[in-house]
Amino acid sequence: MSLDSPADLKLPVTALRGVGSRVAEKLRGLGIETVQDLLFHLPSRYEDRTRIVPLDSLRHGERMAIEGRIESTEIIHRRRRMMLCHLSDGTGSITLRFFHFSQQQRRGLSRGMRLHCYGEVRSGFGGFEMVHPEYQRLMDDEVPQMEESLTAIYPATEGIHQLTLRNLIDQALTFFDKNTAIEELMPAEMFHDDSGFTLAEALQHLHRPPPDTPMELMKTRQHPCQRRLAFEELLAHNVSLRLMRKRIQRYAAPAMSGSMDLCRKLLSQLNFDLTDAQARVSSEIIEDLRQSHPMMRLVQGDVGSGKTVIAAIAALQAIESGYQVAFMAPTEILAEQHFRNMDSWLTPLDIELAWLSGKQKGKARRQTLYKIESGKAGLVVGTHALFQEEVVFDKLGLVIVDEQHRFGVYQRLKLMEKGTQGDARPHQMIMTATPIPRTLAMTAYTDLDTSIIDELPPGRQPITTAIIPEERRSEVIERTQQACTQGHQIYWVCPLIEDSEALQAQAATETEAALKRQLPNLKIRLIHGRLKSAEKEQVMQSFKAGDVDLLVATTVIEVGVDVPNASLMIIENAERLGLSQLHQLRGRVGRSNEKSSCVLMYKSPLGNTAKERLSIMRKTNDGFEIARRDLEIRGPGEVLGTRQTGVLDLRIADLIRDQEMIPKVAKASRIVFDKYPQLIEPLLHRWLKHGLQFAEV
Ligand code: ADP
Ligand code: MG
Repeated sequence: MSLDSPADLKLPVTALRGVGSRVAEKLRGLGIETVQDLLFHLPSRYEDRTRIVPLDSLRHGERMAIEGRIESTEIIHRRRRMMLCHLSDGTGSITLRFFHFSQQQRRGLSRGMRLHCYGEVRSGFGGFEMVHPEYQRLMDDEVPQMEESLTAIYPATEGIHQLTLRNLIDQALTFFDKNTAIEELMPAEMFHDDSGFTLAEALQHLHRPPPDTPMELMKTRQHPCQRRLAFEELLAHNVSLRLMRKRIQRYAAPAMSGSMDLCRKLLSQLNFDLTDAQARVSSEIIEDLRQSHPMMRLVQGDVGSGKTVIAAIAALQAIESGYQVAFMAPTEILAEQHFRNMDSWLTPLDIELAWLSGKQKGKARRQTLYKIESGKAGLVVGTHALFQEEVVFDKLGLVIVDEQHRFGVYQRLKLMEKGTQGDARPHQMIMTATPIPRTLAMTAYTDLDTSIIDELPPGRQPITTAIIPEERRSEVIERTQQACTQGHQIYWVCPLIEDSEALQAQAATETEAALKRQLPNLKIRLIHGRLKSAEKEQVMQSFKAGDVDLLVATTVIEVGVDVPNASLMIIENAERLGLSQLHQLRGRVGRSNEKSSCVLMYKSPLGNTAKERLSIMRKTNDGFEIARRDLEIRGPGEVLGTRQTGVLDLRIADLIRDQEMIPKVAKASRIVFDKYPQLIEPLLHRWLKHGLQFAEV
């Protein structure tokens, strides 16, 4: 076989030694079908097995290779039985900790033995330690065998060993080793760096970094090789979104030219007037809906700015024009609340609604599905269950997604496919309270237009925030009692103790019991993710109806929940939450003209970052300001938490860390479309797997 033209990299992986149909199948699971795909299957991290680190130079949290002599070995019984093996090398010492060990192992790890180990260094009470390191016993004068380059660790899949991946990538690397048969997709006018690496060299370096490669750079992915590839990856995504946008604009969509009678009726029956911002955003949407190509609009508005009524206005315009509307929320509690709102607004206008959640079963479900399929239901509210295959719409014309930051770009497109009728696609509107930094929006939302509600309903009073240590809990309890006596309702939030719903629920249950003892004359209820749907609904309804004074909750109430009479929010362990999350939670109060307050309780001692976070919460109520400070504090790499990470499926780039590249990426993407359209397809093929079905040229 000849391997000296770029086309050869499109060879199927089965051309490599050791790849039969079983391995090929597993590789396909990783999105790898060709030799080129293998080259672009980039390491997720590196291990440094090139050198032994002296024991006085260990660093907590890093994986390192060490060597030393056993000083002593002991078996101890704490909560469980374990073996501790104390190692030193003349510069320092470390403890190896084993929870599982055989008699033979125990005998092998006796005093005086020399060991070579590799593992993660942790800093414990008694100094540094490694739990279950890989280890090898050494003869007295034996020099341990070290690797020549940093060891690349690949994103793997069940059934494919790291060694297999490494071996296959080695083969792929030798394919283009000498005569650089890999296609350059970024002309110099789009991307220029001074590092002087060719694409081939950059790939070589990433897969097999030489021992003298600066580890810090590699780890933070700031090495020029990584940056070059990150840029290309971001470019590919931007190109795909731009392409998608162009394609979507070519689709037909129902032009909704209803007379707006229904909207007017709704407005006249509301007990408030729209704010100017709400009115402006509504007209932008109505204008979009009148077009004969699909609306793709993101509505951003701080918590409490009144996004729900805008959804209702959009829905009415669609319904009046003869179409169905799907309204989706990320949690059942929120979907339920939207359903009730919509029910009270739309039922008087003789519009039939349907409600669908994943938990609905049997007859109720069949009836709902029938209402949707027959077109009887004008508006369907639900969780993502709305987009299951068995849900068939008669004439879906508009999809509304609330708090969309939990959905990725490609999920968004799937929704659009759902309502396909002939050439036509439904209009789409996405609402979010999470302000999205501009650079992020430029990449992740290139396919969307944006409307911003930059005003709160009149008369809203800023929420007063107090920061109180756990030791002063009794004061908080007293304050709770007072608030209740004055007719206010209260949320008491017990956030993440552990990252487990079961443990959260347990913590909340215990808090509920304690509060019931301490506040015997208050009506206290509990809500958490593990309750049955009907029970959750019942609890929320009694709270809303004012039959419950205090609602103990986990973070399930974080987004969207709207009970205007609630005016005191207590958040326990506030030091554990990020700024955006605190802001969302606090946004559950301050939803009426009553003065509201929020108490952030923390466990001392408070670290510096936590201190700063809490004080920002005290100083401002502005979601955009809070998002900006969040970015500053957490710095590149972590901002917006896990929620945004699903936005795009990135292999090497990071939307936050690499944000300073993003304006350049957007510019490069325009150049691609203007001058090098032939690069579009190869870029997409190289970098996008899941996106391809939508982005196919
Ligand atoms: P968001 O979803 O933007 O956080 P909601 O749509 O839940 O906010 O609205 C918050 C509260 O404000 C609701 O009780 C809603 O009825 C009320 N509201 C919305 N718009 C107005 C307005 N223009 N004037 C007064 N109250 C409003
Ligand atoms: Mg909302």
